[in-house]
Amino acid sequence: MSTQTPILEMSLTELVDGIHQGNLQADVVSQTYIDQALAAKENNSFLCYSDTADLAKASLEHKEKPLAGLPIAHKDLFCTQALPTTCGSKMLAGFMSPFDADIVESTADAGAVLLGKTNMDEFAMGSASENPHFGPVLNPWNHGYVAGGSSGGSAAAVAARMTPLATASDTGGSIRQPAAFCGVTGFKPTYGSISRWGMVAYASSFDQAGPIAKTALDCSYYFDIVNRPDEKDTTCYSAARKATYPALQAISENADNALKFDQLTIGYLPTWLAHEGLDAGVRESFEKTKAEFEAKGAKFVALELPSLHYALAAYYILAPAEASSNLSRFDGVRFGHQCENPQSLEDLYKRSRQEGFGFEVKRRILTGTFVLSEGFFDAYYKQAQKIRRLIKNDFDKAFKQVDLILTPTTPTTAFPLGSAQRDPVEIYLQDVFTIPANLAGLPAISFPSAPAKGMPVGMQFMGQCFDDEKVLAATHLYQTITDWHKASPLAQTSEA
Ligand code: GLN
Repeated sequence: MSTQTPILEMSLTELVDGIHQGNLQADVVSQTYIDQALAAKENNSFLCYSDTADLAKASLEHKEKPLAGLPIAHKDLFCTQALPTTCGSKMLAGFMSPFDADIVESTADAGAVLLGKTNMDEFAMGSASENPHFGPVLNPWNHGYVAGGSSGGSAAAVAARMTPLATASDTGGSIRQPAAFCGVTGFKPTYGSISRWGMVAYASSFDQAGPIAKTALDCSYYFDIVNRPDEKDTTCYSAARKATYPALQAISENADNALKFDQLTIGYLPTWLAHEGLDAGVRESFEKTKAEFEAKGAKFVALELPSLHYALAAYYILAPAEASSNLSRFDGVRFGHQCENPQSLEDLYKRSRQEGFGFEVKRRILTGTFVLSEGFFDAYYKQAQKIRRLIKNDFDKAFKQVDLILTPTTPTTAFPLGSAQRDPVEIYLQDVFTIPANLAGLPAISFPSAPAKGMPVGMQFMGQCFDDEKVLAATHLYQTITDWHKASPLAQTSEA
């Protein structure tokens, strides 16, 4: 009996190694994922596919490059010349970008082939990926549940084994929350690492691109490829990057200089664990993860970060404020949707925006415009900026004491479809554990832990700015002693 892992269950790094060593054929690997991407189509994680007829053949041409011709999907907020970019909005229907996003370019240069663009919450605003224009992404573990958002399509595509890796973006949790809901690993790097060039802006001082894949090792490998300075993005830091992958490889090889469990001091937040919205199953999963680290010698320290109490409120002021400004460019003149027979310029603006934007986007634009308006700016926007500073200070203090902070990624597991009928604040509360990392610019990851009631659960590590390597390495350490990240919805279907 063969014990070989099926191609669809192999991690990106295993696939790359297999192709580079000649044990796997790039075109066979590619075709296997393409077939699955088409077979699992009903989960609606893709908004469009590349022409798949020649894709496997194209893979062969790139088999010696770092991404070995693998078919990779991009979230539909990254501009691609080859496929339309809608950002999940009717406003950008049919928009063809004249250039590629920096991350799209570096991914292609490294030898990946573009499989397609993934579904998302409109303009990356939301936590469910129940897109008002293109329909909901279905959670591969149970099609009655959401995949999370806003990068729900990317997370579902990786979980359903339609691609070995998909790009995503994280403004308040949009890489980590869907990764948690779908049982995959999602990494949000330090703010300012991967370039934002060609990424449709939501809230520019928060937006960060990153990967969703099966493992932390895959995220690290890919991160090193796409993480580079870029003059076209002034917030992309200019210093040379240090590769993260060697530190994770050292762990895999059990090298003397590798990070060990007993070198880790991990903070945790008892007040968050007492959070009224925290599911019992998620809490149990947290306790189990903590115990797994402790059993191997990691030290845990209880932390109190008082300002985090205000994080959610500050985010839902600042992010809409930036969004209202960023989205003013969609005026019906320059991009995408334009209303029919405009009677005047004002009518053109009004109706194009009314027809092109969905409900949640309009709510954010209104909120943002309100908090920036005269008379309310000091009361809301300025106060929220002060809170942002306090949060950064609290984290700086905490990271003098601990290497990383461990929390659940989300208070609950995936919720049933139909979130639009729910109170928006209830949905915003989903982001309570992920938002602080965006306010402070920290690197953070979500990785699968023990499931609850048959649905995946994610744990989150946050690290100090530029300590991406430690965030990834500690997660990789955990994934060398546990198998939660190997659980696959495909195994569930075939057993059923
Ligand atoms: N759920 C959050 C929001 O709706 C985060 C979105 C994101 O990270 N893009 O704003």
